[in-house]
This record gives sequence, structure tokens and C-alpha cells, in this order.
Amino acid sequence: AHKPSQLIWHNGHFVPWWEAKVHVLTHGLHYGSSVFEGIRAYATDKGAAIFRLRDHVERLFESARIHRMQIPYSQDDLFDACKQIIRVNRLTNGAYLRPIVFRGYGEYALAPSPQLPIEVAIAATEMGAYLGAEGLERGVDACISSWQRPAANTFPTMAKAGGNYLNSSQISMEAQRHGYQEGIALGTDGMLSEGGGENVFLVKKGVLYTPPTSAAILTGITRDTVMTLAQELGYEVRQQTMPREALYVCDEAFFTGTACEITPIRSIDGLTIGNGSRGPITHELQDLFFGLVKGKLADRFGWLDYVGGG
Ligand code: PMP
Repeated sequence: AHKPSQLIWHNGHFVPWWEAKVHVLTHGLHYGSSVFEGIRAYATDKGAAIFRLRDHVERLFESARIHRMQIPYSQDDLFDACKQIIRVNRLTNGAYLRPIVFRGYGEYALAPSPQLPIEVAIAATEMGAYLGAEGLERGVDACISSWQRPAANTFPTMAKAGGNYLNSSQISMEAQRHGYQEGIALGTDGMLSEGGGENVFLVKKGVLYTPPTSAAILTGITRDTVMTLAQELGYEVRQQTMPREALYVCDEAFFTGTACEITPIRSIDGLTIGNGSRGPITHELQDLFFGLVKGKLADRFGWLDYVGGG
């Protein structure tokens, strides 16, 4: 369960955690008509810093645009609100931020009128490692899901929308029912796509591979971060269409995502990957990633936004 923080930003105001409520006939609840983000802030020597906030807010606005929702705030408004919500809740040890934009109360219509309100909320809570602290070190067991990612032109996979997560939830629930920590879906072409809530990478003979944007993935910000850092380390990174068995014969594999950060995959469909623990290149990338997000290494890409205010 969430550990409640004090305040939630709701439609421009800070409200007590338990008062951030919606009506049961909220459009977003019925039709999945919401778009959202998951963002992390980390503790640094200069206070909490939000990682790639600008990129997350941009993606939120793109998701809203794809679903034709007019956000009644500017990107700068939400940028500031994200910083404030950490400050007012004094989440100096880092936080997980959850901004959400959704069609509100008032109509059943699938093509809602412009009068239907668009609500915006931003919550911030403490969050540890999504797939477990042990998972970060030793890796997790994953399986290929019996569920596929949606075909192109069914609904937009580029948007991070609430409705998309019915697919993601089936992938994760099935995996956990069968004793794995996470599932990896294939696209309708049978090629590797992504995890329930993560992008996936594999390493083979020192080269990194990840499915391309055309594989019905969410183009993860952590995925982009890892590609950038790997190239900085001198590794070749290929965005490439791959069959599931590419995971069966790789040297290392890992998930990337805001929640799971960089989590090694130690087995896939019961086959051990590498030495069955965190691979050396995965480890190297984790060290660089955590060094950067925690402000221990130079912020050479301008990815940190300091929250300020003690
Ligand atoms: N794919 C899915 C389905 C996700 O939910 C997430 C988490 N937002 C990701 C990939 C990773 O994206 P990011 O690195 O931007 O968090």
C-alpha cells in the first residue's frame, strides 16, 4: 500500500491526501481516458532532484494530445507543481511522482463534449525499488507472456494512457501467478516488445540490443537514458527487431523503467541468463545511472532538476 504523504496537488490546489477524490461516474474511470506519468526524485547532496522532469512533462502533454485532451495548465505550471509537491511533503529522501490527467465527471459519451472537465492531479510518495532491492542486485525471473501488445492502429501505444494498462496488468498478473516477477510481451508480429511496465534490453558479445519504437513499446525515458549512457561508455546500442529466443541466448538482460530503474533479468522462461545474476555491463550501467541520478557524477546532460527549499 502507499504510505500517504500529506498533500496532493489537485486541479491547481494542494489538498490533504484523503481529500483528493473523484466521483464514481468519472469518465476516466469508465473508459480508461486518462494519461499519466511516473517520475522519480532522488536525494542528492543539494536536496531532492527530479530526474528528467522536462521530458516526463513533455511526454504527458504528448499523451494528452494523442487522446485529444486539452490540459488546462501549461507545461511550466506542471513542472513547478511537481517540484512543489515534493517540497510541501518534505520528501527529501527521494520520491515517486504520479501526475495524472483524466476526463472528469459529467457525461457517458465516448466522444465527450468540450464541456467535460479535464482534471489534473499530482501525488508524490516514497518508493523503494519496484522489483525489490534484491532484484536490483541479483536480478529477477521473467517469462514471455501469453498476452501480446496491441497491434498498431488498435489504440495508441505511444501514449502513456490509463486504458493501455489493462494490457500491462494482464502481463504482470499472469507472470506473478506463475511465480515470475515480471512478464515480457511480444508484439502481434511475434517479436519482442516490452515488459508489463518496463522496457527490455539484452547484451550479446558486448553489444546492447533493445526493441525499436515500432515494436508497440512505450518509448521509455529510462530506455533513452540507458542508450545514452551505454554509448557514452563506448558500447554499441542497436534498436532492433528480435525474436523471443534472442533472450534465450544472450549474455545479459535487464529491464529499464522509472519504477524499476535498471533491474537485471536473471532468467527467462526458466533458462538462466549469463551466470544467473547481475551481468557486468548491467552493473556498469547501474553504477553510472545511480551516480548520475543521485548527483554524485556530473549532470552533463542537464537531467536533474533540484527541488530546492530544504
Ligand atoms: N513500458 C511501459 C509499459 C511502462 O509502463 C513504463 C513505465 N513508465 C516503461 C515502459 C518505461 O518507461 P520510463 O522509463 O519512461 O519510465
